[in-house]
Amino acid sequence: MADAAPAATAPSLASLGLRHDRPLVIVDVDEVLGLFMQGFGAYVSNRGYELRVDRFALFQNLYAPGASEPVDIAVGRELFNGFFAEGCGELEPAPGAVAALSKLRPKAEILILSNAPAAAEQLRGDWLRRHGLPDALILSSGPKGPITAALVAQTFGRSAFVDDLLPNLDSVAEHSPQTATFQHVADLRLRPLAPRSDLHPRIDDWAELGEAIEAAIS
Ligand SMILES: [Mg+2]
Repeated sequence: MADAAPAATAPSLASLGLRHDRPLVIVDVDEVLGLFMQGFGAYVSNRGYELRVDRFALFQNLYAPGASEPVDIAVGRELFNGFFAEGCGELEPAPGAVAALSKLRPKAEILILSNAPAAAEQLRGDWLRRHGLPDALILSSGPKGPITAALVAQTFGRSAFVDDLLPNLDSVAEHSPQTATFQHVADLRLRPLAPRSDLHPRIDDWAELGEAIEAAIS
């Protein structure tokens, strides 16, 4: 859903207010900490479109009312960018996510790594803080392995990574093989549609996921 971009050079952990000597847990936002499909669906509905969750995709699930073919990709992209510029402060947190991170925070540094347009930075940061997630935030694009590897290389502790998308999980496994990877899909409608992989434990319950992360970084 985002353009592939060259790997960003990672900021230093110190510049993010994160310590080098504790485990590092890197967590995605959309469909991990927040119910993206639900929030994006409401946003497009207010603009006269329908989001039909009948496949694990985004633009291919966007329709004009009553249409049998999805909207043109340019329309989808405009809605997507509009959502991140003005609508992404309206998400519901994923059930259990805030409580699970609260339990992890005494034991690990938490870094939120979100593939979202730069225009989302203020809204997304405000949304996280408002919901009890005052953690460091990086907005990025493209597969998350290179930036994760550059962040993990700065720590002495163990590391874990959570995302809903297999391309990001596979990218992290490739570039930062010492990092424990976990797949989480927050939206109930997406869960049966989301591809899974034996390489990454799939844990859709946040309480259980929090315990698995804690075990992986201990
Ligand atoms: Mg996501």
